[in-house]
Amino acid sequence: MIRKFLRRVFRRDTSHSAEPALIPVALHGISRDRVSPASRRICTVLQEAGFRAYVVGGAVRDLIAGIAPKDFDVATDATPEQVRQLFRRSRIIGRRFRIVHVMSGPETIEVSTFRAHLSDDASTDEHGRILADNVWGSIAEDATRRDFTVNALYYNPTDETVIDYHHGVGDLKQKTLRIIGDSQARYREDPVRMLRAIRLATKLDLVIDPVARAPIRELADLLGNVPAARLFDEMLKLLTSGQSVGCLKRLREEGLHKGLLPLLDVILEQPQGERFVWLALENTDERVRAGKPVSPGFLFATLLWHEVLSNWEARKAREEPLQPALFEAMNEVLDQQAEQLAITRKISADIKEIWALQPRFERRSGKTPFRLLEQARFRAGYDFLRLRALSGEIALEIPEWWDRFADANPEERGVLLQPERDPGARNKRRRRRRKTPGEGLPETNT
Ligand code: ATP
Ligand code: MG
Repeated sequence: MIRKFLRRVFRRDTSHSAEPALIPVALHGISRDRVSPASRRICTVLQEAGFRAYVVGGAVRDLIAGIAPKDFDVATDATPEQVRQLFRRSRIIGRRFRIVHVMSGPETIEVSTFRAHLSDDASTDEHGRILADNVWGSIAEDATRRDFTVNALYYNPTDETVIDYHHGVGDLKQKTLRIIGDSQARYREDPVRMLRAIRLATKLDLVIDPVARAPIRELADLLGNVPAARLFDEMLKLLTSGQSVGCLKRLREEGLHKGLLPLLDVILEQPQGERFVWLALENTDERVRAGKPVSPGFLFATLLWHEVLSNWEARKAREEPLQPALFEAMNEVLDQQAEQLAITRKISADIKEIWALQPRFERRSGKTPFRLLEQARFRAGYDFLRLRALSGEIALEIPEWWDRFADANPEERGVLLQPERDPGARNKRRRRRRKTPGEGLPETNT
């Protein structure tokens, strides 16, 4: 009996999903106290009002895989209006994909209504990408609409069972990322699923099923057709997943890195730029894994820095004045970027701030170092400087000097400061001393 049950749960055939497997807690291991209080409460309230309601998607998958979920989403057969009526602190959001945000204690839970199968007259663009998705359906239809089998799991906190239409629990235990339905069609409907495949496979250490993997290279260009803001959100998820190094390596292997960040492919092929980018990403991964915050501005500043450097070098070669040339280079790189990936205004301001601070770290005389220490973004600028030094772009001696200067008392600082020279002599000296290409950053008069 048990064997028959296990066979049903772990069977590999994914074509039928009429009858879901009902997997008991003994097999999946999620006791109700492992889901967040808010998601539990929301399921109870909805169920007591006569609706079906489950914790769904990434949270169930992560709990089974032994990872702490990032967030808990709920799926229900109640419409957004019905959900809205049951929870005082809630609001309906989204137009093309309407869901409800329910606030409970410190948590905000996304509650979505089961989606129906896509009809033939569904709203799509000329490549087949879904544009609107507000037709409600059954839980079985909803499961079929999800991207990968491991994401189509519904957990009922009331009886602690997992409802599994597509053998997601079995796939997860067998470490396979399997797409639901026809892989080509699913990527055409939403090309971001290709990026999700890479991110989830890396995060959960899954092998991407050959059927899901094969079309990626061929369809990679469809990402060019995804709205820039959506691509930015997904890239940010990927880069702050704590596995960015692994994800980007896999993106490159699958031919998906092109066009996501302008010339990321080129950057990754320049020895110095590549070293810098990987160091920055390793550093970010460590921070994420240690539970420290990471700033998107810092992250994108590192990814695009070598673009700025080479743009700036070209301008310097054309004898443009140093400081304005840097600002022109920064703007040009960010504008070029905006076409593909919509970096928000706030993040782009953060990026510019970090870049603009860099030349000021080279100035170690007069009042500049004191003013720099007081800058709100000193720490971010300094961390960036350090990465530049570790990658071999500038001398390590520069961040080391700043370490000493930041820790010193006023008297020691006076000793550390370099004597002021007239700008002409200083520049000549610097030119002679220059060893590595990036070392010639100007001393600014800001
Ligand atoms: P994580 O939260 O770790 O980033 P996730 O799988 O939970 O991963 P979400 O964006 O939170 O990702 O999505 C929640 C669920 O919604 C997914 O588990 C999946 O079932 C469904 N989903 C998300 N994006 C898509 C998509 N592009 N196509 C189909 N289903 C999707
Ligand atoms: Mg999630």
